[in-house]
Order: sequence, then C-alpha cells, then structure tokens
Amino acid sequence: MESLQSLECEVKTLKEYFRTGKTKDAAWRQSQLEGLLLFLREKENEIFEALRIDLGKHHLEGYRDEVGTLVKSTIFALKNLKDWMSGKKAKLPLVALLTSAELVAEPLGLVLILSSWNFPFGLSLEPLIGAIAAGNTAVIKPSEMAPACAHLLATRMTTYLDDKAIKVIQGGPDVGEQLLQQKWDKIFFTGSQKVGRIIMSAAVKYLTPVVLEMGGKCPAIVDSLSSSWDREVTVNRIIVSKYGACAGQACIAIDYVLVEKRFAATVVGLMKIMIKKMFGENPRVSNTIARIVNRTHFLRLKNFLKDFAVQNSVVYGGSMDEENLFIEPTILLDPPLDSAVMTEEIFGPLLPVITLERIEDSIEFINSRPKPLAIYAFSNNESLRRRILSETSSGSLVFNDAVIQYAADSLPFGGVGESGTGKYHGKFSFDTFSNYKAVARRSFLTDFWYRFPPWNTNKLLL
Ligand code: NAD
Repeated sequence: MESLQSLECEVKTLKEYFRTGKTKDAAWRQSQLEGLLLFLREKENEIFEALRIDLGKHHLEGYRDEVGTLVKSTIFALKNLKDWMSGKKAKLPLVALLTSAELVAEPLGLVLILSSWNFPFGLSLEPLIGAIAAGNTAVIKPSEMAPACAHLLATRMTTYLDDKAIKVIQGGPDVGEQLLQQKWDKIFFTGSQKVGRIIMSAAVKYLTPVVLEMGGKCPAIVDSLSSSWDREVTVNRIIVSKYGACAGQACIAIDYVLVEKRFAATVVGLMKIMIKKMFGENPRVSNTIARIVNRTHFLRLKNFLKDFAVQNSVVYGGSMDEENLFIEPTILLDPPLDSAVMTEEIFGPLLPVITLERIEDSIEFINSRPKPLAIYAFSNNESLRRRILSETSSGSLVFNDAVIQYAADSLPFGGVGESGTGKYHGKFSFDTFSNYKAVARRSFLTDFWYRFPPWNTNKLLL
C-alpha cells in the first residue's frame, strides 16, 4: 500500500502530464489503444491463468467475457477514434445569423476507475478504453478480491502503456478511501450500492462527476412460449446466463425467474436437464463453472439457504463445498418474497423461480421493487412485449435472451435509479470521459437591432 503522501505525489505528476497536452494527440490515443490490444493478445494465457486462480473461470469463459470482448471493444474504438474526435457541426436558430457552431469533445483530465472483482479485466479496461480514446490520464484501482488479476494489470499491462499517463494502484477499501480524498475530473465506479453511496458522498467535496455502475436484482420473465423449441432455447439461455457467467456472480446475471404457476413444472424440469447438460451430473468436478470468489461471499450465499422456508424451496442442487468455494447450480421454487434471497442481490449460483397467476402480473412485481440493471423477457406475445417495454424501467431490456447486451458497442451500458447512473461502452464510453464544449464562431457583420437596449416598443411592433 502506498502512503497518502506518495499517492498525492503520483496524482500531482499525472495532472502535470495531462497539462503537457500529450494525451490529447490522436497519435497518442491510438498508440495506447494499440498497446492495450497487444497486451490482451500477447498476455492472453496469463490473463486466463489469473482468472482461473482468482475465480476458477474456464479459459473459454475468460475469452468470451473478458479477452475477446475487450479485443472487440478496443478495435471498435481504434476504428472510430478519428470520427469521435472530430468536431460535430451544430445547427443554429435564425437569430444567430452569420454564426457557425460545433461540439468539440475535450478530455476531462485525470480520471479514477474503481472496479469490481467478478470481471476483473473487463470492468477495469472497458472504461479505460473510453478514458484513453477521449484523451485522459487515468488511475485504475482493481478489486483486491481478485489479486492475481490486479497484479497482472499492475505489473504486465502497464508496460504496454504510457506509464506517465496510466497507473494501476493495487489495494482494498483503505486505498480506495485514500484515492477518494484526491481531486479527480471524474470517478468511474463499478461495485456495490453500499460503496456507491460512499463514492457519491466523497465526490461532493470537489463536485466531481461520477459514473456508478452497480447491481441489483435482474428478473427474467418467462411467458408460456408457443413451441417446445422456443422453451428449450429459452431455458438454455437462462441457464448459461445464470450459472455460466462467473457462476451467477455478474451484475447482469438473471437474479430470479417469473413464470405462470401452470407452467412452472415444465420450466423447472427443463432447467434441471440443461444444468446437467452444461455442467455434468457432478458439477463439483466440472471446470466449466466458476468458483465463489472468497469465503465471505461463500458464507453470504450459504446464509441465504439457512432460512428454513428457503431451504424447503430448493428443488434442485443446494450442495456446497466450502474448502473449494463451490456451490452447485441451485434452483429454488417460490422462496418467501420477504426472505433475504428475494430482497437482496444474490450474486451467485442460486436461482429462485417465482410463480404468478398471470404472466402480466410480472410487470407489477418488477415495478414494486427497485429499478433493475436489466430485465429479460422471453415471450412470443407482441402485446406483452410492448407492455414490458413501455411500463417498466431498467438499464437494459432484452427479449428472448440475457446478458448479450454487455457485448454491444452500439448500446449504452449502465443502470437507472439504484442500479446505477451513467452509461458506457463504444461511443458512450468516449462521451462519458469527454466534455462536449459548445463552440460558436460569429462574424463581425450585422446584428439584429432589437438585441441592444434601449428598446423602443413601437419599433418592436413594426
Ligand atoms: P464493492 O463495492 O465492494 O467494491 C468495488 C470496488 O470499490 C473495489 O475496487 C473495492 O476495493 C472498492 N471499495 C470498497 N470499499 C471502498 C471504500 N470504502 N472506498 C473506496 N473504494 C472502496 O463491490 P464488489 O464486491 O467488488 O462487486 C459486487 C457488486 O458490484 C455487486 O453489487 C454487483 O452487482 C456490482 N457490479 C456491477 C457491475 C456493473 O457493470 N453494473 C459489474 C460488476 C459488479
């Protein structure tokens, strides 16, 4: 851990470097994005190994969710950099006669990126792509809960980048708190709502703008689909999006499923089949399901099942191995709605299935809870889909799939209400780390007479 004094010194040096103007050059931005790309390609195996050590992720999951996604995002930024950086002409009203105007994106300065452990590369580097593309200097503090990944970012990645502009500082909440005492031009935070509140309070001191990427409970509505094919595809996608994304330790993982009572047995039956297909008869020995990040989170998840009524609701799985931080893919049918598993974010491989009389009731069910980061709805019914779109609010809404929205450069990623504030990915990341300066250029020629007092009301009526 660095002393507060050396931290202040580093921040000062980074700010001085930003003031040299070096990071504003298109060539600098391009070279840094290329450096990042090279790191991802050359150190791919080290990244996979770090993900295995910290989270027990299979390397293909690591490629799908982190390396592959980041390579795609970096290439997208490189391809669009020139366009994003160019000033955008703006139309003006008639009163601004003989004036031209444009929006010029300028970097904010020095930005702080605080990230979470579940996608330790993605959640640190996806915002960094935007920060670099927009011409900022940046400090990243990865999560202490994925130490092998944090170490790799701090020691390996930085050698591919301009170390006078981009720093990785390792440490836990204590280091985070020290960082929050500094003056930043933006704080980009990914993590819990609890710490999100700390970030927002700290930002008040310097009126620092913040992006808060947080979580919550993401529901999946499953309608009584018309064909057995649609049902199989639905359940396949639900299972992979829950247990196959860091074992449910993902902010956009499905937290619970809503289904009509008469249809629940079919859905749960299919879920059991799909779990076995993906993770085998004995998932404990499977290397295709990630492990729980640490003992604290393991016990947090175990405690969800302590409640007798919740335990009774387990219809599949439920076994745990504390030594290996393994929790079996678990399905719960109608646990009490006031139990912790239904009031707190689960963030693990437990999946409650909640039954309703009518699938339309899912709209009220969702609306009576905090706005989710994502809503997923599997349905062939166009009028139900229209109602979900217009009557619910969430950071994203996906019909007939889950989690895929994360990989789209063309879609803004982020929450609404308690699930987050601010958006990123693709051009939205560039915008998040830019100040769009309004620039107007006026000629010295004529003005409208009524601009200048004294005003002659008779004349105004003419
Ligand atoms: P967390 O809030 O505990 O930690 C996030 C980061 O903040 C870490 O780097 C941590 O060291 C730092 N931190 C912790 N306490 C701090 C303090 N007092 N001052 C300054 N920094 C501090 O969250 P977590 O356990 O890493 O992640 C889990 C949460 O993150 C879940 O709620 C999940 O939904 C959310 N999440 C959201 C997204 C998203 O993109 N919206 C992605 C992943 C995770």
